[in-house]
Amino acid sequence: MSRTLSSAHVHTPFCDGKTPAPEMARAACDLGFVSLGFTSHAPQDFDPGYCIPPDREEAYKAHVLALQKEYAGRMAIYLGVERDVYSCSSPAGYDYFIASVHYFVKPDGHHAPVDAAAEKLLDYVNTCCGGDGLRMAERYFSMLRDYVLEAKPAIIGHFDLVRKNNARLHLYDEDAPAYRSLALDALRPLRETGALLEVNTGGMARGYLDTPYPAPFLLKAWKEWGGEVILNSDCHDMRYLDAGYGPAEEMLAALGYSHAVRLSPDPEKGLWERYALKA
Ligand SMILES: [Zn+2]
Ligand SMILES: [Zn+2]
Repeated sequence: MSRTLSSAHVHTPFCDGKTPAPEMARAACDLGFVSLGFTSHAPQDFDPGYCIPPDREEAYKAHVLALQKEYAGRMAIYLGVERDVYSCSSPAGYDYFIASVHYFVKPDGHHAPVDAAAEKLLDYVNTCCGGDGLRMAERYFSMLRDYVLEAKPAIIGHFDLVRKNNARLHLYDEDAPAYRSLALDALRPLRETGALLEVNTGGMARGYLDTPYPAPFLLKAWKEWGGEVILNSDCHDMRYLDAGYGPAEEMLAALGYSHAVRLSPDPEKGLWERYALKA
């Protein structure tokens, strides 16, 4: 049994989530969750199967708000959204948003996904980065850094998402000082925004990775800089609502984190609360 009992990063069939929101809420309540934040992918004007269709955004909001009412007093439900750097709608009207980068834009204007089929990322590296995987990683991190500095989200989504396909493609060495310093250089200025750094277990649940995003060396630095973390499952399927939480909590404690942050069980006391990672 993990201590987190919450996820502020949960998808629905309004985007590419598999489990309808009412079933997801019931599963969370059955697990003893104290809070749950729905964060479907915000509307964008490309890759429509992946995000909330622009004309369905109000329906998404109403759907989550109805569940929030239904569960009041039992489990706090929040209305969030995961905004890609290329999302086209406004974050207004949401309790919070997660800032993420899922695409590069190619010179012809088409989007190349970071975390979809590995071949698509490989094609981008070959056609737009001269075959240099490290250059791709540098571009990814600088996009995410600039986006977070400008958008000031509550949560920084899966900071080193490039690891997902790197695990298969071996585009660069994750232990190389050149890689580590460019990732650290992108993360360092984000501390000043006060955003929560997401410890995302989605890649573990889906079997891509055996550690969460971001890698331990980044979490260690974030701790030294006084940053706060939030544990999220990036859940698309209710079977994985808290997948990977136990090992992730142990890893955070081993890195020196005494507490993490989660969505508050009582919205009247604020949006976020700290909880201890160990008894
Ligand atoms: Zn994402
Ligand atoms: Zn997500």
